Amino acid sequence: MIQVALENVSKIYGKVQAVQSVSLDVQQGEFFTLLGASGSGKTTLLRLIGGFETPDTGCIYIGGKDVSRLPAYKRNVHTVFQDYALFPHLSVFENVGYALQAKRSPVAEISQRVTEALKLVQLAEMAQRLPAQLSGGQKQRVALARAIVDRPDVLLLDEPLSALDAKIRMELRQELKQLQRQTGISFIYITHDQEEALALSDRIAILKSGKLLQVGTPLEVYEQPADLYVAEFIGRANFLDGMLLSVDGNRGRVQIGETAVVEGTVVEGTTAAISPGNAVRLVVRPENICLNHANIGHATTIIQSQYLGYATSYLVQAIGLNFHVMELRRRGTSPYKEGERVFISWEWMEALIFSTN
Ligand code: ADP
Ligand code: MG
Repeated sequence: MIQVALENVSKIYGKVQAVQSVSLDVQQGEFFTLLGASGSGKTTLLRLIGGFETPDTGCIYIGGKDVSRLPAYKRNVHTVFQDYALFPHLSVFENVGYALQAKRSPVAEISQRVTEALKLVQLAEMAQRLPAQLSGGQKQRVALARAIVDRPDVLLLDEPLSALDAKIRMELRQELKQLQRQTGISFIYITHDQEEALALSDRIAILKSGKLLQVGTPLEVYEQPADLYVAEFIGRANFLDGMLLSVDGNRGRVQIGETAVVEGTVVEGTTAAISPGNAVRLVVRPENICLNHANIGHATTIIQSQYLGYATSYLVQAIGLNFHVMELRRRGTSPYKEGERVFISWEWMEALIFSTN
């Protein structure tokens, strides 16, 4: 069932098209992430869904109802921000119960719901503390408990982990996912961290300059990026600029420099068709490159070899270019050494060719 739907939503600030004709659906109980660089329109989109902004064009539906002109407090939607915005003079319990208190819910019900929410964020023991007596991660847990205590249909989260240090961020990332699964609330989550997006999301929407480039599962956006920008933004990759020589089905041959020829899958862009003679960029991920001594592919020299335990990371030079290669450790083999001469190859299906015209 669709929980939130946007139809051709646009928002303009002066000369800035913050959000440009965005259409998307978020399912009930889905962990949905808006991913994009700073200034790509993520917060504006969230504020439109939350009712803090009104769209210039288009419609927003929550639970099938058109809420485009409905103020924030009439939408069953809560928002969690990067800065926890707790009341400093109220205890953890009172902070979490604040909205229920304001609605004059019965005391027994408040107590039961707040206790349950605090349990969900592992803060049952800290109900009587003041915010000043908590760590950053704990404060953000209180903010989360407060946001879910009256079971909204949708929870909007604007980079809620970005103020925390790396270790706490990883811990809270796991808990956030668990919280979403346990409550079944639809989460719309903002991040500019592509790894966080891959780890948490059921689906990811990638934004650039207010435009939606692709919506897909983590696997889809990583393995089948619809656009060169998406391929560059998500994960690591090697980029080879050249000219498309020929296409057979979707198997393309690309000339790199004067003489080298490599192969990949031609990705039909949403805009222009791609044909021989076009300037293209071939994208191949480090883990899809195979190093071998069997004369397959192009001759190369290992420039750098970094043993990481679970994998070895290489910098190699072939066809006049540097490549980053990642090989998972296999038992009984030893990593290639710096200066060693090997061959570099990849399956044509594992590399993607985009037009750069
Ligand atoms: P993000 O959250 O992805 O960093 P924002 O949604 O905050 O991006 O901003 C998108 C664009 O809209 C930016 O160019 C930003 O400067 C502009 N913008 C956002 N809010 C306002 C505002 N209230 N007034 C003017 N410009 C704004
Ligand atoms: Mg933002």
